[in-house]
Amino acid sequence: MKKIVICGSTGSIGRQTLEVCEWFPEELQVVGLTGGSNIELLAEQTKKFKPQVVALADERKYADFKRLLGDCPTEILVGEDGVLAVAGLSSADLQVAAISGLAGLKPTICGLQAGLAIAFANKEVLVACGQPVMKLVRELGADFYPVDSEHSAIWQSMDGRGEVASLVLTCSGGPFKQATAEEIYRATPVDTLKHPTWSMGAKITVDSATLMNKGLEIIEAHWLFDMPYEKISAVIHPESIIHSMVQYGDGSLLAQFSYPDMRLPIQYALFYPKRRANSLRPLDFAEIGKLTFWAPDEERFPCLRLAREAGMAGGCAPAVLSGANEVVNAAFLAGRITLGQIYDGVAAVLSAYQMGPCDTPEQVIEADCWARREAEAWLRKQSC
Ligand code: NDP
Ligand code: MG
Repeated sequence: MKKIVICGSTGSIGRQTLEVCEWFPEELQVVGLTGGSNIELLAEQTKKFKPQVVALADERKYADFKRLLGDCPTEILVGEDGVLAVAGLSSADLQVAAISGLAGLKPTICGLQAGLAIAFANKEVLVACGQPVMKLVRELGADFYPVDSEHSAIWQSMDGRGEVASLVLTCSGGPFKQATAEEIYRATPVDTLKHPTWSMGAKITVDSATLMNKGLEIIEAHWLFDMPYEKISAVIHPESIIHSMVQYGDGSLLAQFSYPDMRLPIQYALFYPKRRANSLRPLDFAEIGKLTFWAPDEERFPCLRLAREAGMAGGCAPAVLSGANEVVNAAFLAGRITLGQIYDGVAAVLSAYQMGPCDTPEQVIEADCWARREAEAWLRKQSC
């Protein structure tokens, strides 16, 4: 039995991880869950999977949560300390890192320090804190398995023998791939949350529409695969069948193909190095007919360029990008700004940033806090 804790079990990745656990009840045991504030779902999951311990980040909801759990014997923890205790549960073998945003940083570090393997979905953590986190992974010799579909595809396409020439990240293009710059700029949350191929949490769905997500994934790939930015590109592939590719020096290109379904990369990380049969639909090329590709247009999608530039600038610039983006992305979802203003806000914060040292998680958190304050100040100016 592999014992698993899921940080962010009430989110899109967390829920799909639990589905995979249900497929393999003899091999995967859920021993810990954490949620943010969705107490109804967290209580339902706890009663169903009966983990040893559950943590609720929003401690104000403890009494209601306890009432919902009734006589369920699972130990209940609350607040950040509770989440960290579950994230580093010593009886577990693997942590699924599926909290969204930089809130996942400390839980990831706790899991690593407790010696757990990490199935890693929480890209903002590597974007903001790639250098210290990957240093820790190397020092501890930890197992750190990508879950993000593009990075899982690259991992699956790395044969460990050839000289890698470049990485190609595929990108569905989101709901506005054919829209004009003006239509994209004015887009509302209702238009934006209709992703054509993937069903995901709200924040990442917005990031996919601006292509900020692809920019964040380029930075994530830089850290995960120790690859210079010049050797990482993105290509629009609207069918979302090829999930990313590795170009080798001898001219061969290896890629991973499947219908878009996050349960596949989640399962791959949970069982690595084994590939287990499941009931997901196998690809039917005759049904697919053709696959298409084109270069992303950085004029209509300037967030992609902005993220790449922040990655190449290094230091805390990616942390500032990601922190500011979290704030303006949430403001967009709350109806305070339009989709195009996400770029305006993040670019304004980045241009005001004075580069400082960025070697420790504490320095990253400081830069992230600064970026959030700047982004809030920028938002206030927009509403004036
Ligand atoms: P969701 O928004 O659906 O879920 C986020 C999870 O994190 C929820 O369980 C939420 O709890 C919890 N959470 C949020 N804030 C906090 C906090 N401050 N403290 C503790 N827990 C918190 O996100 P997704 O599942 O879509 O994404 C998770 C991560 O995986 C992101 O980094 C995303 O970029 C990445 N990813 C997601 C993909 C997808 O298909 N969804 C694909 C590839 C990567 P609650 O809801 O209870 O408040
Ligand atoms: Mg992805």
